[in-house]
Order: sequence, then structure tokens, then C-alpha cells
Amino acid sequence: MLTNDELARWDRESFFHPSTHLGQFARGEAPQRIITGGEGCHITDRDGNRLLDGFAGLYCVNVGYGRPEIAQAIADQAHQLAYYHAYAGHGSEAAITLAQMVMDRAPQGMARVYFGLSGSDANETNIKLVWYYNNILGRPKKKKIISRWRGYHGSGLMTGSLTGLQLFHAKFDLPLEQVIHTEAPYYFRRPDAAMSESDFVAHCVAQLEALIAEHGADTIAAFIGEPVLGTGGIVPPPAGYWPAIQEVLDRHDILLIADEVVTGFGRLGTMFGSDHYGMRPDLITCAKGLTSAYAPLSASIVGTRVWDVLTRGTDENGVMGHGWTYSAHPIGAAAGVANLKLIDSLGLVENAGTVGAYLNDRMRSAVGDHAHVGEVRGEGMLCAVELVADRDTRRFFDASEGKGAKVVAAMLKRGVIARAMPQGDILGFAPPLCLTREEADRIVDVTAEALAEVLG
Ligand code: PMP
Repeated sequence: MLTNDELARWDRESFFHPSTHLGQFARGEAPQRIITGGEGCHITDRDGNRLLDGFAGLYCVNVGYGRPEIAQAIADQAHQLAYYHAYAGHGSEAAITLAQMVMDRAPQGMARVYFGLSGSDANETNIKLVWYYNNILGRPKKKKIISRWRGYHGSGLMTGSLTGLQLFHAKFDLPLEQVIHTEAPYYFRRPDAAMSESDFVAHCVAQLEALIAEHGADTIAAFIGEPVLGTGGIVPPPAGYWPAIQEVLDRHDILLIADEVVTGFGRLGTMFGSDHYGMRPDLITCAKGLTSAYAPLSASIVGTRVWDVLTRGTDENGVMGHGWTYSAHPIGAAAGVANLKLIDSLGLVENAGTVGAYLNDRMRSAVGDHAHVGEVRGEGMLCAVELVADRDTRRFFDASEGKGAKVVAAMLKRGVIARAMPQGDILGFAPPLCLTREEADRIVDVTAEALAEVLG
């Protein structure tokens, strides 16, 4: 077995880590952590630490770590058939079963499910399907996609463009020109403190209408949004936001893509976020919770309105030229089937609702009055604590002070993982859906201690 020092050196010399400060890492100035195991809501590392994972990896290990049922399903599938492709009508029992299980759980109006590997590729698929749809309908100009500032939809060329965070655009020549951004439904950062929630919803709608008027509805194909903004700060929408947006989209014949990569399969205490907020999406993007990240798998769920046109398109033009080698990979599909069964048998959707509400309530009462906490917000098993330099003006701390990262580091010292969200000093929590009340207490207590240590 390699020594810790050898591994650390190989890591620095060979491994190109995603979303990492490359120079600091190569010079040995950035943290390294080698994870060795996990059970329930905890992971262990090579230095012997046992950490309570308050972010479920990257909000994806929804059933928790170390589930033998999923490990067994993966092993059985690997022994029986590790791989065959899904092109031209081929499939595996696991993929067909999972498709049926996803459709049984999907919101109304959905017709088929297309499997990929990641949230990014599922969004890429959904955008291509929207373009294909409009080409079949003879509307070649109707191609632009509206996304929101602070939205997160992946980091490919198109999906990185859809993402509305500067970090993912700068120096990458993004966004691509087909993508346009509108206001985020971020009530805490509303333009005028005197606005009520409903004034702010009206403001978001007016911004959307203005963008549509500027570009022309005949050039706009779809609007994409996460039911709750995730990586952009864990921001639930103000009441009435989604019905108001839906009305505008319907009026201008613009499709809605619900990006449920984080919210799909239970995180909000409902199977899908679209159900939670009364959205009527034409396409839904899923990944993470589909397999609880035991194997890579994503799903693009296609609604009837789009599906009917797609089938017409292939009747006219032949095979639809879109597929990945690993589409519907049998091992991912087997993991997905076992995962969805566990979500049901353990009652994890309900647990996300009840323990999530408990986590949010406790967090609000423990740190909501802190002099540098601007807002505690959340929904289901998602929670955020937004730090401010000044509560009255809601001013952020200077980014160079790295306050959020310091609080997260102080939490880690105490054995709890939170995430410093990539834009602004926002502490994010998205634990496994199997979190217990005792574990929620621990997350809250450690957050309060770390805030006191770093910010007084
Ligand atoms: N959409 C959303 C809402 C996400 O949160 C993410 C990942 N955090 C993605 C898409 C992209 O998924 P992936 O990283 O698997 O490509």
C-alpha cells in the first residue's frame, strides 16, 4: 500500500482536479484529502477522520453512503452484463426497468426518459431536443435559451453558458450567443428593500417580459431553471414565482426545462421540485439523486408536447443523431433501480421533508440573529446561511477575506462538512436525505460554534 506521502505527491504531480486552484494545488499550498470510506451520513479519510457530510458529496449521495443493496445490484449487473449500448433499440433489463420506475414517479405530462451520464450531458440533450423540436416545426429561428443569473446547469460549452455564474464564464469565452440571462428570483438581494415578495415576483416577470421583447419571442425556444437555485446560493423562489413565470412562457410559446439535478427524487420532500412548486415543465433534467451517485447516470425526461414532435421528426428524417456510448449504461441503471427502491422503502422523501424542516428551523433559531448572518433559508433538505458584513445594508464581506471558506474550515476541524458556495459568502447544506435529527443538531451546533470562532 502506498504511504500517505507518496499518494499526496502523486496527487499533486499527476491528478488534474476539477474546480480547483491549479497553481496552489501543484505547489502543495491547497488542502488534499483522500476519502477512503463512507457509511450513512459520514465519510472517513486516510488521516483517520470521520466527518459528517452536510453536503452529501455534491448534493448527490441522497440515500447515504455504504448501502449494501446498491453495491450488490452493481456487482450483480457487472457479473451478468457490464455493458451493451442502447442504440437502435438495444437495452438491458435494468435500463428498461429504471425507465419505467422514473416514468411512474415523474410529474404529469411526461412521455419518455433518455439516459445519459451527468447533469451536464442531460441538459445538453435537453437543449438539442428543443432545437430539434423547433426545426421539425419549421421555426429555425426559435433557438435562444433563457437562463437565470445564479443558475447552475453544468460546465460544458452550452451548459456552462446556461450557468449564470461569472466563475464558470470568465476566460472560457462563455456564454455562447444563443444563451441569454434574466434576473434570479433572489428575494434577499432584491433591488429595493421596500419590495414585498409579490412586488419582487412582478419585477422578475417584468424583467423576463423585457428580455423576450428585446429578442423577440420568435427567437426564444426555452427557459431553463432549477426549482430552487442550487449552486448559485441555495435560494428558494418567492411565493408565486413559478406560476407567474409559467404564464409568461405559455403566452410566448416558450418551453420550460426544469433542471431537477439537485431537486429530483426527493430533496425538497416531494419526488420532484416541479410538483412542489406547481411547475409544468416540458423537459426535466435529472442526475445525482437518480443513483445517489453510486454510479454516473442522468435522465432527460421528455414531455408529451415535445415527444410527439420528435417522433414526427424521425418519421420524416430518419434516425435522430444524438447518443452517447454510455447512454443507459447497465451498471448505472442497476444502481438507479436499487436506489429508487431504497428511497421508497426507507421513506426518504418524507424524511427529507420532516428532518429538512427541522434542520432549517433549528439553524434559523441558532444562528439567524447572529450579527453577520443576513438570512437563513432553505426548503426540504437544503439549507443556506448567507453571511453579510452588515445586516442593514446586506453588504457582502470583501471576497478577498474569504469569510465563508473560513467558517467552512472551522466546521471541518470540528468534523462537519459544509460547502462555501462559489459566489458570495454563503454556507450551503444539502445532507443525505437519511439525515437524523441528532445529525441535524450536530450540523447546527457546529455551524454556530464555527461562526462564533470566525466572526465573533
Ligand atoms: N444542473 C444542476 C442544477 C446541478 O446542480 C448540476 C451539478 N451540480 C448540474 C446540472 C451538472 O451536473 P454534472 O456536474 O453531473 O454535470
